[in-house]
Amino acid sequence: MADFGGTDLEAFRAEVRAFVEANFPASLKGKNPMMREERAKPTPDMEAWRKAVGERGWGTPTWPKQYGGGGLSPAEARVIQGEFARAGAYNPIGGMGVMMFGPTLLEYGNEAQKAEHIPPICRGDIQWCQGFSEPGAGSDLASLATKCEDKGDHYEINGSKIWTSGAQWADWCFCLVRTDTSKKHEGISFVLFTMHQPGVEVRPIPLIAGSSPFCETFFTDARAEKKDLVGPLNGGWTIAKRLLQHERSGLTGAGGSGMAGGAKSLEDMAKDYVGVDEQGRIDDQDLRMRIARNAMDWRAFQQTAMRVMSESKGNSGPSTASSILKNAGTQLMQEKHELALEVMGHQGLGWEGEAFKPEELAAVRGWLFGKAFTIYGGSQEVQSNIVSKRILGLPDLTQSK
Ligand SMILES: Cc1cc2nc3c(=O)[nH]c(=O)nc-3n(C[C@H](O)[C@H](O)[C@H](O)COP(=O)(O)OP(=O)(O)OC[C@H]3O[C@@H](n4cnc5c(N)ncnc54)[C@H](O)[C@@H]3O)c2cc1C
Repeated sequence: MADFGGTDLEAFRAEVRAFVEANFPASLKGKNPMMREERAKPTPDMEAWRKAVGERGWGTPTWPKQYGGGGLSPAEARVIQGEFARAGAYNPIGGMGVMMFGPTLLEYGNEAQKAEHIPPICRGDIQWCQGFSEPGAGSDLASLATKCEDKGDHYEINGSKIWTSGAQWADWCFCLVRTDTSKKHEGISFVLFTMHQPGVEVRPIPLIAGSSPFCETFFTDARAEKKDLVGPLNGGWTIAKRLLQHERSGLTGAGGSGMAGGAKSLEDMAKDYVGVDEQGRIDDQDLRMRIARNAMDWRAFQQTAMRVMSESKGNSGPSTASSILKNAGTQLMQEKHELALEVMGHQGLGWEGEAFKPEELAAVRGWLFGKAFTIYGGSQEVQSNIVSKRILGLPDLTQSK
């Protein structure tokens, strides 16, 4: 990993800028087609951009080069992020493989598992889904009952999962299964298997808005190979907890703007809708102050989140602090979405139709989806329980994942 001083970092910036100019298709400028529906049917331009970034490992810049990552320092990763943002370009390598499964496998997987599964994530070739929640196991995740039996040369899985995001487009699943019914946490294992097999059935859950971001997932004699057990048998809970910490850190959006990629800043949006005073400021003092406060809080939050994450990298990955970050980041993002609707007024209340601009329709959907932030990755209440128990050391009166 290179330790760049200021001058070399500038040379690297020039390299990234030239790469973006040469490879980023103009048709994608300001767009972020990383929503799963669009990503499942990529255009040739999307594919070209994904391949170009994937080949360099720049979508996973700090991951080891030997597995297809960029092998870069956090400072260089920030240069990539900054140059992509400057050009209105999105990171085409993403999803659960990047956000939570990859970092966990790098820590807990054996050499063969890392060599097999990490490179396709870095290239964006394989999409992963998370088989954790079950109808009877959400906040109390360790109650999960999906059964996994040793069949000699392989494992056989029976049971069902729910809220499996993107399962209908996923190639592989990282899954928590019960391998010992006599113990709760110590009877759980962490296995990987392909979704493209007869024993896996996926039923998308339609939402009122028409989309189906998540699914019910059923396993009937589904097969997992012995080599795809991560960590020891019955040792999956420790791995699951670490994965959830990565998920919560990722959900804070610490590296991004907190709004859809390519979106205008709230300040610029407010100037368009509300107008400006004689000094060029948003022409509504109260709104101006609330937007400024949100921007300052968001900036402070991002700095804190980046500091906590880089401090924890020297130790053993993200810590229980990810629960504080998840709750704080959720609150700020939801506030930002509320402000966007307020700025747009009636135009921020449309669902469809030509009377509304694409960014207005996107703002409503963003506001609605923002409600899910408090639930997925472990609910807000459960994060507060973790903070009180593991950080503040208060008495353990509840069970939490
Ligand atoms: C958009 C979205 C995507 C998701 N994607 C996935 C996915 O890909 N894979 C996956 O496995 N899961 C996924 N989930 C599921 C998510 O992890 C669970 O919804 C979440 O953990 C809460 O579990 P539950 O829905 O069963 O709610 P419950 O556990 O039934 O909780 C209901 C309510 O009770 C509260 N509560 C429960 N226990 C306590 C307690 N001890 N103390 C205080 N309050 C408590 C909760 O905060 C919540 O308000 C997703 C959820 C959403 C909304």
